Amino acid sequence: MSAVSIHPSVDNGVAPGSASFGGGTLECHCSKDPVTVTITGNVAHNHACGCTKCWKPKGAKFSVVAVVSRDNLKVTANANKLKVVDAAATIQRHACNGCGVHMYGRIENKAHPFHGLDFVHVELSKDKGWAAPEFAAFVSSIIEAGAAKPEQLAGVRARLKELKLEPYDCLSPPLMDAIATHTAKAKGVLAA
Ligand SMILES: [Zn+2]
Ligand SMILES: [Zn+2]
Repeated sequence: MSAVSIHPSVDNGVAPGSASFGGGTLECHCSKDPVTVTITGNVAHNHACGCTKCWKPKGAKFSVVAVVSRDNLKVTANANKLKVVDAAATIQRHACNGCGVHMYGRIENKAHPFHGLDFVHVELSKDKGWAAPEFAAFVSSIIEAGAAKPEQLAGVRARLKELKLEPYDCLSPPLMDAIATHTAKAKGVLAA
């Protein structure tokens, strides 16, 4: 029996990242005039995401998405092809209007705990050494996304554990703690 498919970049095992990796270039799927995005330094909090909004390759149950400081991300070619998918969404996903790939997601709300971070998919890069996925977020949402039936979830979670991608139904505990800390400081419950 073949293993449950999660995402093509992890289905054959999660490749480790490189601690000395200095960054690289993401390229959309257009064969002509592709959009390119250059990232300085490595990404952080790379993870599989089951939410309904992240871009993922056709047939994948999960996206693989990581964060990078917005100051370290630059659109380096064909920026005119980028369009915001949903201007009302918390994360504004800039997609190529040729191939539909999301090149980066940006939070413009300065009060948001993750303001200053952009969301990117390192599978769009041929460069090797990007930080590896560490966990799986919003696992139950794959049902809502139409990517799995409820009865398949036990198998999906088992496969994620086998890949050492601990499954969570929201974000990982460190990221949930970061959000709660930000909110507590904003409310004055916790000293800033
Ligand atoms: Zn494209
Ligand atoms: Zn997502």
